[in-house]
Amino acid sequence: MKGQITKTLPRNDWDKVVIHENNDPLLELKETERIKIGLVKKDYESLFFVRKTVAEKLQKVSLLLPAGINLVIIEGYRTMQSQQHEWDSVFKKIKSNDESLTDEEVEVQARLVVAKPSPLSNHHCGGAVDISLIYDNGILVDMGTNYISASSIEDKIKFPMLSDKITEEQKKNRKILRDVMETENFVWYPGEWWHYCWGDRMWAVYTNQTECYYGPIELE
Ligand SMILES: [Zn+2]
Repeated sequence: MKGQITKTLPRNDWDKVVIHENNDPLLELKETERIKIGLVKKDYESLFFVRKTVAEKLQKVSLLLPAGINLVIIEGYRTMQSQQHEWDSVFKKIKSNDESLTDEEVEVQARLVVAKPSPLSNHHCGGAVDISLIYDNGILVDMGTNYISASSIEDKIKFPMLSDKITEEQKKNRKILRDVMETENFVWYPGEWWHYCWGDRMWAVYTNQTECYYGPIELE
């Protein structure tokens, strides 16, 4: 896709997007030769569901990667409970680091590392996926900010989504992922190299569209 918007846009732009829910069902992603699943531990049970169209796109994308490099799916669809769990853990941690903060101040800091739980959050609409690259030998490709360490709450608070201080090699690796994802018109989030989406509100905003296909969805 040409010309995705590459600066972070204000969150309230998302609210202007009209959702025309197309009822594309949630599907569980299956491991293939080129798609590895769930190698990164979260502190709650991760799910590997995405909308059917997104699953098909990931399948196509995986076949375009250079030999020896595969996609690794870190997380797809997220339930309201898991979003709430992550928010509560981050909130508690920030508060315990500095008891003098008011709840409002804690919330401002928490929002830098985790999205406030909402039915409209991307991972609850089934079009978003957190992904990275992995070599055939099972070693993760070096993408700079390590998603694994960034998934511990301590590290998330210490290194909120930093992404500029990376080496040329790491930049190149991120570009390998981005280039293949763009062939299927996925949008990447400028603040998180691992977050890609298609069909949801964020996707519409970053591609200058006013409508999208995916709203909140529950697992059957
Ligand atoms: Zn994400």
